[in-house]
Amino acid sequence: MSLPTTLHPQVLEQAGAFGGNALLLSGPARVGKLGVALAIAAAQNCSGPRGPGGEACGACPSCRALSARSHPDVLHVEPRATTATGKAARRKLIPIGAILEARDKAHEFEVHVFEFLEVRPTHRRRVVIVNGAEYLGAESANALLKLVEEPPHGALFLFLAEDVRAVLPTIVSRSARLGVTPASDRALEHALTRAGHTPEPELIEFAAGRAGVLDDLEKIRTALQDARDLGAALPDGLLPALEAAEALEKRFDPAWHPETLRFTWRHHPAHQRARADSALDALQGALEAYASPSLAFQVFALALRDAFELT
Ligand SMILES: [Zn+2]
Repeated sequence: MSLPTTLHPQVLEQAGAFGGNALLLSGPARVGKLGVALAIAAAQNCSGPRGPGGEACGACPSCRALSARSHPDVLHVEPRATTATGKAARRKLIPIGAILEARDKAHEFEVHVFEFLEVRPTHRRRVVIVNGAEYLGAESANALLKLVEEPPHGALFLFLAEDVRAVLPTIVSRSARLGVTPASDRALEHALTRAGHTPEPELIEFAAGRAGVLDDLEKIRTALQDARDLGAALPDGLLPALEAAEALEKRFDPAWHPETLRFTWRHHPAHQRARADSALDALQGALEAYASPSLAFQVFALALRDAFELT
């Protein structure tokens, strides 16, 4: 909770001075946009003594509810990667059903934006965090417009997007824009140390200033180790490579393994990297197409040996 606040103090200060209804926070994936959004939501609802930049106290009932991810006035809206039937969706989307209960025919969403905003805040201000504003379809965005222009009970909308150009202009034009940029390596090192972690140089290099990495440390450490293990097995021969691929299959986390794999071959010559990247793209494509995962991982290991000229 306190980490993102301290990594982006200027953004938080600007947000604190903002008097409107909608902010659009833009910046690269995992740079810490959600952390900033939560810090803004905390500052809007805090009833305790503030920090020098207007930061929330971290101890009042509102701040504690937010830390426990159970704040009654904060609603998270995110694109769905799966459909109501549990299948992976071809395209990520925030459907109209997330906005209006009457349009949520399949009862996919527990809370809907429209109905959420009809209720008075428990603390001070209701905050709707749309994490992935580029996935708002025209129908959803249209349903939101009136709410964004005149939010009931003075609610605040926080739209988060990696690419502002992919957000519908109707949303962009009604929001004040704030950029969230990567922090310095030193700031990230400090944040890690403060949180009681060891800031290994490899982790700092992988993080590249993205505060969001701090939220997923254990998964990233595991994924980095798995990627290193595969890399070490590849030159040992076909059988060790296939065995390492099998081990990777069992632990594969689409959120982090692709990136840690690319990270481990960053020092290879460009032509090898390009071929390894293609092999990884093919693996991800096969997994998304429900191909046989074990075959896809075997093919991946062979393609990597090929890419690194180990055959
Ligand atoms: Zn507080």
